[in-house]
Amino acid sequence: MDDRKEIKYNLFSLFSNLIEFNDIKRYNQLMIMLMETMNMNRFFSDMIKNIEPYVPGEQPKDKKYIKLNTNESPYPPSPEVIEAIREAANADLRLYPDPDCEGLKIAAAEYYGLKKEQIFVGNGSDEILAFCFGAFYSGKKVLFPDVSYSFYPVYANLFNVDYEEVPVSDSFEIDAADYLKENDGIIMPNPNAPTSIFLNIEEIEKIIKKNQDSLVIIDEAYIDFGGISAVKYIEKYPNLLVIHTMSKSRSLAGLRVGFALGNKTLIDGLERMKNSFNSYTIDRLAQAGAIAALKDTLYFEETRNKVILTRDNTVAELIQLGFKVLDSKSNFIFISHKSFKAADLFQKLKENGILVRYFNKPRIDNYLRVSIGTDEEMGYFIDTLKGILC
Ligand code: PMP
Repeated sequence: MDDRKEIKYNLFSLFSNLIEFNDIKRYNQLMIMLMETMNMNRFFSDMIKNIEPYVPGEQPKDKKYIKLNTNESPYPPSPEVIEAIREAANADLRLYPDPDCEGLKIAAAEYYGLKKEQIFVGNGSDEILAFCFGAFYSGKKVLFPDVSYSFYPVYANLFNVDYEEVPVSDSFEIDAADYLKENDGIIMPNPNAPTSIFLNIEEIEKIIKKNQDSLVIIDEAYIDFGGISAVKYIEKYPNLLVIHTMSKSRSLAGLRVGFALGNKTLIDGLERMKNSFNSYTIDRLAQAGAIAALKDTLYFEETRNKVILTRDNTVAELIQLGFKVLDSKSNFIFISHKSFKAADLFQKLKENGILVRYFNKPRIDNYLRVSIGTDEEMGYFIDTLKGILC
């Protein structure tokens, strides 16, 4: 190999390894250094130069894996959704979609028992979370758990939000008493991600009640897998905003639809933010598909219940294999083995065609986050682990 080829090869291996082990911080630093060296980033604003972007779970293109790494549903969306999207794929696509998502808001209002003015629709809940940081938290001080959704610090940095990461306990529990300190806002997922743990709804109410001068955002992406929603507190607490997504329990990660649920003024704030960015975030097909999904409650309950059952069976098997499994009310589990390193297990599972998520981060670097697949997929996962552990 000549010198240039060798350098290229070494760089490629280095970046592949960093991605493989999810060492995103080093990956980003190296990328910036490399681009600086090549003077490629001279057109970047300071904001883009300094930001550390979120890196989503791998969507592999090289070969077919059993994908247990991004908490998608293993089941297809309701047939009604496919039918509605087919019907909407017509000549009207030449027209912009309804910027107010009126039909979808009406369907969501009916499902949640709210008024349509209490609903905001976003292009996935990630977009709504970003809008929330911009609309409500910019220039202010916000609290969130130290082990939590890794997009929060990214949005905080993007929108100039001062934030404090409040440590969860040694057993990864959130303690409501830790959220009494001074703040302008609090955001947390419930169930928490990536821990999968659900915080008792009474504790959530305590946090909302004791912080009535702050906006409390409860990100309920995984609420349908056994938790109790805070939506019932919306009328009582004007400082509460609840975020939902159709990506997990509705099998629609590919359609990109999420909701913010809260009092009208908060929803107006999000509309102001959206209309300063892009009026048409939800396309015609997504609006049609999402309405159909909300109406097919039977299919939703069936598939959601199947995921819960498979999760509970998988947990029992993993405990038999010597794994510690945190108490999950989500469509994923967070596991650690007493004698095998998570990073090694991640690698071995990948070699066997199974993708899970490994976070090379303080406190959780010996854990794997495993999404719940079908019974067959989880059977293969358990059998593969047996082979690795023996
Ligand atoms: N919140 C949490 C806690 C999540 O884990 C995710 C999924 N990565 C999201 C929000 C975003 O989901 P989506 O944008 O697909 O609605």
